[in-house]
Amino acid sequence: MILTGLLLFITLASLACDDKNSPQSVKQTPAESAPDKRPALTFPPDSGMLPKFDGDRALQYVKDIVKFGPRPLGSANHKKVEDYLLSRLKGDDVENDTFTADTPVGKFPVHNIIAKFPGTKDGVVVVASHYDTNYPLRNTAYVGANDGGSSSALLLELANQLRGKTREGYSVWLVWDDAEEAMKPESETPFLEDSLYGINHLAETWQADGTLKKIKAFLLADMIGDADLSVERDANSTSWLEDAVYEAATRLGYQSHFFERNNQVSDDHIPFMKRGVPCADLIDFLYGYNNVFWHTPQDTVDKLSPKSLEIVGAVVLETIGILDKMEPLPPK
Ligand SMILES: [Zn+2]
Repeated sequence: MILTGLLLFITLASLACDDKNSPQSVKQTPAESAPDKRPALTFPPDSGMLPKFDGDRALQYVKDIVKFGPRPLGSANHKKVEDYLLSRLKGDDVENDTFTADTPVGKFPVHNIIAKFPGTKDGVVVVASHYDTNYPLRNTAYVGANDGGSSSALLLELANQLRGKTREGYSVWLVWDDAEEAMKPESETPFLEDSLYGINHLAETWQADGTLKKIKAFLLADMIGDADLSVERDANSTSWLEDAVYEAATRLGYQSHFFERNNQVSDDHIPFMKRGVPCADLIDFLYGYNNVFWHTPQDTVDKLSPKSLEIVGAVVLETIGILDKMEPLPPK
């Protein structure tokens, strides 16, 4: 992923303090001449049920994944992680989306893994995470514990919670997308021209075969294991779905870990956003002071916490529970 912009917030409080004649004063528009076009968002009542998510087990999965070492596209370690993910999904309804990606550094096999958990309601909520590590860092000790590891582990634990139960709601499809990371250093190729190979292919395939119409929401998890968890509000995501995520976090008492910062993030959700699917990117893109651990050999398990995994896992499940009962879902 990459940050495409940093949004500065002007709070209402700071505006209210301004002198009316100061250059910063805001012209008030009468409400009747500028109606709020956003649909009034009402969330279904809180059932009070706490979603179950085992953060310790999820952290163990992160450890399992990073133990294979760096897992760049085309490597033996990458294949081992594919096999590991599939072994944990044995008996589940798994679809494999495999193809060859033509990248600036050659052709590579790409393997998206989709595990489907049926619901009683027509429609699908996708939860996605990439699992590869950055290709230009392939000859370093970079293992992406947080970047790719934490969210892939999160999805494995979500599978544990979804497995063997009747879902009274939308079907949930977990997607481990591949080849998210750039193949060349960002200084040489713009990120969006050399990344997201797997998820672009999946979005195109699902658009072509009509699957895309069934997808009600796309929730993306990325870098969510940081012990110092602070998930961004992303301006490239769908506003009402971000609101639903915040509502879920608030219901669980986890809101202090959400939306303290506002950013604009280019990530795996972009191909689905472009195709009109409501998306929310759950990402904490401040990993160590000034993001110093990101894409470095310092991205290791000791920086992560089972509690952070539990918080994001529970918020994802609570968000899906809210979506199940929102009738109708707001337009994008
Ligand atoms: Zn990355």
